[in-house]
Amino acid sequence: IAARDSEDKANSKGAASTQAPNIITRDFVFDYLIVGAGFSGSVIAERLATQSGKKVLVVDKRNHIGGNAYDHYDEHGVLVHKYGPHIFHTNSREVFEYLSRFTPWRSYEHRVLASVDGQLVPIPINLDTINKLYGMSLNSLEIQDFYKSLAEPIEQIRTSEDVVVSKVGRELYEKFFRGYTRKQWGLDPSELDKSVIARIPTRTNRDNRYFTDTYQAMPLHGFTRMFENMLNHPNIKVMLNTDYREINKAIPCREMVYTGPVDEFFDYRYGKLPYRSLDFKHETHNTSVFQPAPVINYPNEHLYTRVTEFKYLTGQDHSKTSIVYEFPKAEGDPYYPVPRPENNEMYKQYKALSDAASGVYFVGRLATYKYYNMDQCVAQALTVYKQIAVKAV
Ligand code: FAD
Ligand code: UDP
Repeated sequence: IAARDSEDKANSKGAASTQAPNIITRDFVFDYLIVGAGFSGSVIAERLATQSGKKVLVVDKRNHIGGNAYDHYDEHGVLVHKYGPHIFHTNSREVFEYLSRFTPWRSYEHRVLASVDGQLVPIPINLDTINKLYGMSLNSLEIQDFYKSLAEPIEQIRTSEDVVVSKVGRELYEKFFRGYTRKQWGLDPSELDKSVIARIPTRTNRDNRYFTDTYQAMPLHGFTRMFENMLNHPNIKVMLNTDYREINKAIPCREMVYTGPVDEFFDYRYGKLPYRSLDFKHETHNTSVFQPAPVINYPNEHLYTRVTEFKYLTGQDHSKTSIVYEFPKAEGDPYYPVPRPENNEMYKQYKALSDAASGVYFVGRLATYKYYNMDQCVAQALTVYKQIAVKAV
């Protein structure tokens, strides 16, 4: 940015303005260029515009706002999530209250079944999962002994395999986790950081909720409507179908907030950081209900990992129903950073470049290479905004 500033100033003083009369001749039209209109970019844009009175240009190369949380009505009028199921959950009151300025909510507790050994059983594994799978009738105390009898002692829990095998042993690990993880990540759980599978607890009670956070809800009118409300401010201009590299020379901005992939920003100087991608296969069925749960996970025999039926999430009343299958793949839009030691090492090098890049803030799941949920992105963006605001006064 610093280098660009002087270049832009030079342009605005003479040569460029005579050669190309349509070039803007003021030094800065916008205070901030925000790359990406997902959670991370939209939160910072909203804060800068409304709290700090800054002029903000948000660009996204896609044809819509909302990033991966974008939802829309499909051709049958069913509200669907274009990039797979997004369920909002958080323990942070600050995050929940912040987002509540832009949307009313619909209470929603997510539940998932896993297709294992020809049966549909609750995941996370709980008392009912075990009793149904093995035809037993254990209670909460007995199941603790059952888990203990299966668990393999592991001294240092490092990998995602260790997390499960040390708690419930190899058989349940293989039924519920190994196949799913290999499909999802293209890696064996033993090659992935423990934090990945640690997202899924093991329970001794009958709680079949996927999340146990204090706040669990869906934006009543959808995520996209919430983003529209966030970005609807006279100080915010949104430019879609635009890669920031197409306009950052022509539209001078004082500073930049970047929420795209960090390795791409630095032209892959230290190599490509792996991001896992997905193919989404959307379908609409001429029946009001397709499956017995909002999401069914398929750990083993299928090429896809899970099937989501959106009406459970959105509460929409419709005679048809829309679903999505997720097929993991290596190439394509970057959806998931891949948490494992060698990737974290490469990211550290990019982090050093990010820290040294003056006038550019790196925020979000792709730019900080963190397997963050939506609420974590909001929390991180609010923190970065506060840092920017302190400097900007
Ligand atoms: P993104 O949403 O990826 O936004 C980045 C934006 O930057 C994109 O729109 C991109 O087009 C744009 N961009 C990138 N490069 C450029 C460029 N050069 N020029 C212009 N624009 C650019 N989280 C939950 O809390 N609950 C869930 O249930 C959940 N489910 C998920 C399911 C799936 C399949 C996936 C992939 C993620 C899920 N998440 C979920 C995570 C959630 O999607 C992310 O935490 C969040 O959307 C990340 O927001 P972000 O703004 O950091 O990034
Ligand atoms: N996982 C699994 N089996 C399941 C559910 C999850 O092995 O039935 C593992 C898998 O590695 C997955 C990770 O746990 O990628 C995190 O699951 P989550 O549902 O949180 O994934 P996300 O919604 O982020 O895709």
